Amino acid sequence: MKMVFATGNSGKLREASEILGGDFELVTPCQVGIEEDIPETGNTLRANSLQKAQYLYDRCGCDCFADDTGLEVDALGGAPGVYTARYAGEGKDFNANMDKVLYELQVLECESHMAAGLGLRVKPFSRRARFKSVITLILDGEKHFFEGTLEGTIAREKSGNGGFGYDPIFIADEYPGETLADITEEQKNEISHRGKALRAMAMWLHENR
Ligand code: IMP
Repeated sequence: MKMVFATGNSGKLREASEILGGDFELVTPCQVGIEEDIPETGNTLRANSLQKAQYLYDRCGCDCFADDTGLEVDALGGAPGVYTARYAGEGKDFNANMDKVLYELQVLECESHMAAGLGLRVKPFSRRARFKSVITLILDGEKHFFEGTLEGTIAREKSGNGGFGYDPIFIADEYPGETLADITEEQKNEISHRGKALRAMAMWLHENR
């Protein structure tokens, strides 16, 4: 089945092709003549995912899907969330985004230890976080949504050369002591937010198409 995937992110495209397997032929926006950046100005992952898929559908009229992913860190009140792609500011790279998360957690952890040292009652500091992906599929003009979550913690420092984005600072519960950038792509796809959401979409397509 041929579908356009609304992404310019080669990491996402590689993972999606691997997860969906040979039954699906994924086409990029560029391959259907859409060269510009697809806007994502929504306030939620679902709104952004829908906006990207709708933008593509309005221009090419073909079956397509978009994924929007966010990292939620509990100690940061759920940030970066919908700002995951630009947490350190517009145009900053992923090292800057990861450094900002690591620095903010370090400051909060330090404050928490100081408060505890002063005898104040404080909640134990937590590095708990999760990735969430929302996929919008537009098939024959109808919209369908699929979601996936990966629970874990934020590492104290970056580790690993695999994956992309925030993978070097995310430790999934399934692989304690290793970041998503340390494990293989196959291991990541088996447990990941995107893997879960894409497999839910693939299963729905097999049952309904
Ligand atoms: P997007 O808005 O869905 O493209 O993703 C938001 C940001 O999260 C992107 O800039 C990605 O690099 C990052 N991101 C998305 N998926 C993952 C992942 O599986 N691991 C690490 N970072 C990710």
